[in-house]
Amino acid sequence: MQTNRRTHIFRPLRRGGAALLALLVLLLPGCTPAVEEAAADLPLPESGLKYVALTFDDGPRADTTSVLLDGLRERGASATFFLIGQQIPGNEDLICRMAAEGHQVGNHTYGHTRLQNARDDTIIEQIHKTEVLLTEVLGPGEYWLRPPYGLVDKSRSDLIKTPMVYWSVDPEDWKLLNADKVTACVLDRIQPGDIVLLHDFYPTSVEAALRIIDALQGEGYAFVTVAELFNIYGTMPQAGRLYKNATQERNW
Ligand SMILES: [Zn+2]
Repeated sequence: MQTNRRTHIFRPLRRGGAALLALLVLLLPGCTPAVEEAAADLPLPESGLKYVALTFDDGPRADTTSVLLDGLRERGASATFFLIGQQIPGNEDLICRMAAEGHQVGNHTYGHTRLQNARDDTIIEQIHKTEVLLTEVLGPGEYWLRPPYGLVDKSRSDLIKTPMVYWSVDPEDWKLLNADKVTACVLDRIQPGDIVLLHDFYPTSVEAALRIIDALQGEGYAFVTVAELFNIYGTMPQAGRLYKNATQERNW
């Protein structure tokens, strides 16, 4: 009787298997469906090794960013930090440490301002103010831009004098605020050549990042900066272009 009832219950499941599976995947907590184009399947670089770039937005934040830097150093992993200009004063030592320990430092505007539909002078000012602060701390350099929310008008890309960095894996860590779910989401999607979006502003994201590194280093992945990733893949980044992974620009 028991067996019959179970058979009865599972028969409709088998009939609608594909549809139900798709529904279950959509309903699984912790990993929202990708909103961007399907993940690229890039060929490995000449070395045949697997490289990815972790990127961290919205910092620096003294307590969480320092924990992340400690963890990256312990693991021999490099990363890229896109900093909010108004959070730079008071965190100069942390930023010097980023550069000294081999990480890439970039610009995330001064006030985390949405650049899409912004006035030209606002775009220029938001980028320039952070460049000035970064130059004061780290010296002259090219500080690549990650536009807040990844948004900028293509028609005004000539205002952007550096390459721009989008992403190919976004676990929406700021929404999940759960290290287990963020880790699972990234590990489920990651492929060599990916650029991963995280935020060192959140303790859960820092914890997830270190777990992701531990898991993927066990699979032979190496963690490099975005500039290093481009170099490894032979990509020559251009000013005003928005890159989503090691070789491809975002469709915008
Ligand atoms: Zn941001």
